Amino acid sequence: MKREETRQVYLDYSATTPVKPEVLEAMLPYFSEYYGNPSSLYSLGQKSKNAIRAARGQLAGLIGAQESEVFFTGSGTEADNWALIGAAMWKRDKGRHIVTTNIEHHAIMHSGGFLEKEGYEVTSLPAGKDGLVKPELLEKAIRDDTTLVSVMFANNEIGTIQPIAELCAIAHGRGALFHTDAVQALGNVPIDVHGLGVDLMSMSAHKIYGPKGVGALYIKKGVNLPGYIHGGAQESDKRAGTENLTGIVGFGKAAELAAQNLEAHIAKTRELNDYFIDRVLREIPDVYVNGSLESRLPGNANITFKYIESEAILLSLDIAGISVSTGSACASATLEPSHVLDALGLPIEEIYGSLRFTVGDFTTREDLDYVVEELKTAVARLREFSLFSGQAGQ
Ligand code: PLP
Repeated sequence: MKREETRQVYLDYSATTPVKPEVLEAMLPYFSEYYGNPSSLYSLGQKSKNAIRAARGQLAGLIGAQESEVFFTGSGTEADNWALIGAAMWKRDKGRHIVTTNIEHHAIMHSGGFLEKEGYEVTSLPAGKDGLVKPELLEKAIRDDTTLVSVMFANNEIGTIQPIAELCAIAHGRGALFHTDAVQALGNVPIDVHGLGVDLMSMSAHKIYGPKGVGALYIKKGVNLPGYIHGGAQESDKRAGTENLTGIVGFGKAAELAAQNLEAHIAKTRELNDYFIDRVLREIPDVYVNGSLESRLPGNANITFKYIESEAILLSLDIAGISVSTGSACASATLEPSHVLDALGLPIEEIYGSLRFTVGDFTTREDLDYVVEELKTAVARLREFSLFSGQAGQ
């Protein structure tokens, strides 16, 4: 007898996205047809160099930057390390204090930890219960020896969007540089770097339907951040190493598509996400959504299911062909409670009861109907066996 195939529903677009067919098509010739080293002077090399230039223009177009302000890296993580450690070291004669927040991605948190070991002082601004960072807190924390402020654009776990322009203006008012990790925001909210005024901004291709292993750092014209990886003269002498040609071409194409589809993408993901949140809140008792409902990414729903462990729900959903996440992708392989939900003040057992659902361009309403039904069954069954089941429904 033929086994019926389990339906597959991917609801983890914040962890990574599938490469879009148009992106793959743009990349393919650069693997084996136009494979020249972009630094080579003959035509085959120049073809590669031109492809990188075109990709730089496409990414610059998505964020309102000039081509010369975009520097490709090996990941969003590398861009974050470069921004934080590079800027802190560059400005160390002026001061050794940097300000960040307690809900940053590990790429920022651990770079800050590295700097602390090197003798720098790092102040972490606490996000409020709604997952937002209040500008007044930055005003109080910033000092004469603060050289850099780094606040993420949108949070990877709860999707909250920070008041970047306002925070940036405060940093500049005190002579500090401003960096934002926009890995989750890129392609999900309109970004105009010149309007925002940011000096440095991190990005990653695999969150916008591009390939993995390629990122970029926006560096505002006039900010002469020194290079971080040393060797050849690639990326205007700032990021050595033969370029990830196919990855960069894919990033460029993904950025071009994101710019063309931005409004439709936002409208679609918001509509789907609102539908999902509404059904879950109405049809499953003892649940709540984490983070501000107003200032958030259109496709993010981080939901706490009281009295059960989210890992058990995740495994039940996985058996039903549904992919979701218990925290940020890199933290979810560990049993550490999410530092973001902890920062919001959730009790530990509710942190362990939280799941992140993120919709994207290939999600349908039927997918969400299927997920809600499977979720209802899993939650009811797990609560029946839960130690806390006596409290369920109270
Ligand atoms: N910053 C944020 C907010 C992220 O969500 C991620 C990826 O999860 C990163 C940085 C790291 O990007 P990459 O996976 O390209 O290293």
